[in-house]
Amino acid sequence: MFFLRILFFVVFILLFSGCLTFKNLGHENNWSEYYQKIIHPKSQIFINEAYLKIQSQDYESDFSVKTINLYRSKLKSEYKNFLFDENFSLVEVKEENAEEINIYVGVDVDHHNYYFLLAHEVFHLINPYIKDWYMEGQATLFAKNYCLSKNLLDKNWINILNKKENKRYLASYNLIKEIKSIVPNDYKKMINYTMRKDDNNWLSIDIDKWIDSLELNKKIMVINVIKKYENILVDDTSTTFSSPSH
Ligand SMILES: [Zn+2]
Repeated sequence: MFFLRILFFVVFILLFSGCLTFKNLGHENNWSEYYQKIIHPKSQIFINEAYLKIQSQDYESDFSVKTINLYRSKLKSEYKNFLFDENFSLVEVKEENAEEINIYVGVDVDHHNYYFLLAHEVFHLINPYIKDWYMEGQATLFAKNYCLSKNLLDKNWINILNKKENKRYLASYNLIKEIKSIVPNDYKKMINYTMRKDDNNWLSIDIDKWIDSLELNKKIMVINVIKKYENILVDDTSTTFSSPSH
């Protein structure tokens, strides 16, 4: 139980988009059992279309999701007494069946930022094992642009990123937005350059390898942008972030 609380505490800190992809970590708990399933055809259509859109872009992934279950991260009434956290948004990979994914959303379906949070989580399906601030920035940028194209972006969406606890999300979003302005095609390929940092399944972005793939005259511009944001992003240990070593 202690471990569960730690896990959820971490998730709680990163409330906005979760994006801590969490796994069952060998624990027998079936997390989704505790939370309320979202039955909402419009959400399923939104997820399917957004996922297709991501897959049609320049992302490479060995990861293919077949089944997506959607949950509101609110405890069922019979579990209200549990100390498990609520109102987080994240993607859960089921180790025993990686083709089946659970998405948890931290707000109700009619909340003005529901689709923004949902689109962010759907982006993670391209590779749910990447837990890295470059990935978070990519997911937020995708969510913003995709919701805008569907007329589902609330005019106050940026407020959620401006909350104190989300300042790293705002930084990662601005970082990727600036990188995109320099390398409008190559920025997407960043997530194809991954590395394993520890002896587990999580992946980090190998930023040096990605920078090596860029045109010479763009490299220094990209590095300078990353340097602007690294102080904000590097000291969060729950999600990896590597600065260029050049
Ligand atoms: Zn995320």
